[in-house]
Amino acid sequence: MIIVMQSSASTTEIERICKELSRWNVTPEKTEGTHKVVIGLIGDTAEIDPQQIQNLSPCIEQVLRVKKPFKRASKEFRHGNPTNVAVPTPNGPVTFGQNHPLVVVAGPCSVENEEMIVETALAVKAAGAQFLRGGAYKPRTSPYAFQGHGESALSLLAKAREVTGLGIITEVMDTADLDKVADVADVVQVGARNMQNFSLLKKVGAAGKPVLLKRGLSATIEEWLMSAEYILAAGNPNVILCERGIRTFDKQYTRNTLDISTIPVLRTLTHLPVMIDPSHATGKSEFVPTMTMAAIAAGADSLMIEVHPNPAKALSDGPQSLTLEAFEQLMQEMAPLGKFFGRWTQGAISTAMSKFALQVSSTALK
Ligand code: PEP
Ligand code: MN
Repeated sequence: MIIVMQSSASTTEIERICKELSRWNVTPEKTEGTHKVVIGLIGDTAEIDPQQIQNLSPCIEQVLRVKKPFKRASKEFRHGNPTNVAVPTPNGPVTFGQNHPLVVVAGPCSVENEEMIVETALAVKAAGAQFLRGGAYKPRTSPYAFQGHGESALSLLAKAREVTGLGIITEVMDTADLDKVADVADVVQVGARNMQNFSLLKKVGAAGKPVLLKRGLSATIEEWLMSAEYILAAGNPNVILCERGIRTFDKQYTRNTLDISTIPVLRTLTHLPVMIDPSHATGKSEFVPTMTMAAIAAGADSLMIEVHPNPAKALSDGPQSLTLEAFEQLMQEMAPLGKFFGRWTQGAISTAMSKFALQVSSTALK
């Protein structure tokens, strides 16, 4: 249930209402929007009559029921206020969110050695990325495939962070490794295969670091949002959703199918920021630039792109990895489109152009 307060409601009155509601066996959670405060009620609200709440104060504008199974993740829960996930990095804070510039995350599938991770980090930073990605613990289909260097790779990520100041995104597969991963990562990634590992979601939710939640291989949007709900329910509001392609029937020409429609669909359902990973979605580096452009045009808040100094020799996901040069070129091609949509860090474009871009993006996002 959601309680929308009038913009004139005083802090004392809001506190009084929250205190009163706590006695009703539900937990009130306050969200301060630009103009109004919204109180979300968590718990069994089935027996509560909205009128009963309305009677609590003349400062209550509206009482609404959230009918969807996901509550905290639902758009209603923040009354349309998008969540901004602000991540402190050595180079300064970077914010993932609808009203912020596109955040670019790039790096190899796996951290292989110090030289390659530092070289990649320096190159993606020079090209304009804000985050370095790289797996220390790798979820592989075959137990005989390279599983990642584990803890030693985490120290290499820490080194790359120190050298470049980039934020680090890396995956946690096992609750046992969570503390070590969270020590190094600025954003902790939960991979597609673990999207419904509920004990991992609960622990990651309690760990305090922002979480990147990838969509499961065959997960519906509702299942994905329910997984986000686990993290939010554990007390962590900083969740970024990452679409990385879903299973369809064609395995021959693409690895997965990028569900680009997930961007406008999620906009109608949730306040959480949306990232697109065109690398795992297509499985082929030649298709990554086109899907990157499509993602920007559809309104993605962030992109995750696999980059490797020598893709032919990569220990995992070489075929979908861009070379350092190809990534730099892609960033140059992304800039005009990012600027057109008003989502590029390099600043503003002409007012007429940005007005048009806003129109296009708001139509696309409706
Ligand atoms: C990855 O990011 O390298 C990865 C394994 O991704 P996914 O979980 O989407 O397959
Ligand atoms: Mn990969």
